[in-house]
Amino acid sequence: MTEHQGVRVCINCGSDDAKVMHSFTRNWLIEARQTPIERLDELGIDDDFSSSIVKCNKCGCGYIRDVLESRERNSEWDEETLKERLSVYQGGFSRKQVNHIIYYEYSIISNLLNLVLRKKKDQSNLSLLDFGSSFSILSPMARVMGFSDVVAYDPLYPTNISKITPDNHPINFEFLSNMEDIKARAPYDAIICQSADEHFYDLQGEIKNIHNLLSDDGVVFWSHPVMDLDADINLLRNEANISDKGTLKRLRATFHVHHLNYVMPKMFKGMLKRNGFREAKVIMLDKRIAGENRFSLANIKLLSISLIKYFLGIIGSSYRKNEFFLEKSR
Ligand SMILES: [Zn+2]
Repeated sequence: MTEHQGVRVCINCGSDDAKVMHSFTRNWLIEARQTPIERLDELGIDDDFSSSIVKCNKCGCGYIRDVLESRERNSEWDEETLKERLSVYQGGFSRKQVNHIIYYEYSIISNLLNLVLRKKKDQSNLSLLDFGSSFSILSPMARVMGFSDVVAYDPLYPTNISKITPDNHPINFEFLSNMEDIKARAPYDAIICQSADEHFYDLQGEIKNIHNLLSDDGVVFWSHPVMDLDADINLLRNEANISDKGTLKRLRATFHVHHLNYVMPKMFKGMLKRNGFREAKVIMLDKRIAGENRFSLANIKLLSISLIKYFLGIIGSSYRKNEFFLEKSR
């Protein structure tokens, strides 16, 4: 039978009292989700396996209780494997995709940089850690924008990642997979955690960890995906009968065995606060679509969304909030 990485208590309040909302089993993954058998065998999901999304009876937090151990850890890649993996990310730098991502990512780093510069007396040598980075553009972009020591950290990188990603390049930054190496370079002036925390086995432990790695006058950008279990649970249970492609795509991207934490924004904000962070209110006005006039309909729409989000933030509403700029409160 497939090993579980572990069985968890509530990731928010620590109580061991939850009801099962949905179970991923081999049968369900084949019939409702149409996962190819080879993929299930690769993951080691056999007939006896199950992994369940539960909801805490005490605080209402959604999470996966029995977590699948599936990612290959402590492996090494050769350069060919790296090339193959990178090609997926390189494909993202097409006009179509870049339109969507480039201004947004630029906006993140420029807002982060502004906050850091406002706080730091010595601005000669700024460091940035991209925590759970995968192969995102944020690390090179931060380097281009003047962070001089940039580290992309992901525990799922192979152990030899620094050896196969040379940094003899003008946009030099380091890839690391080992937390001890990350700690040795701490503290960091800025830390980014973008769409990574839904994968964390120990969510509050990692929030504490990021707090410890940050310098006392440092700033964090945290983007926390909103995955609304309550709103989608009936759709998920009924996935086998859904034909709408958009809904299926969304369900499959949101609810799966590797997404371990389904924490809504208000609760997540509480976790950040409990673990020593306070929010710096930032308006991200720089989101816009490349190649279009700043005052085009699409860009005015994006601007309006930014403004609405900002004012909701000012009045303290966390409705569907997923972007947090954070400073240490202690
Ligand atoms: Zn709870």
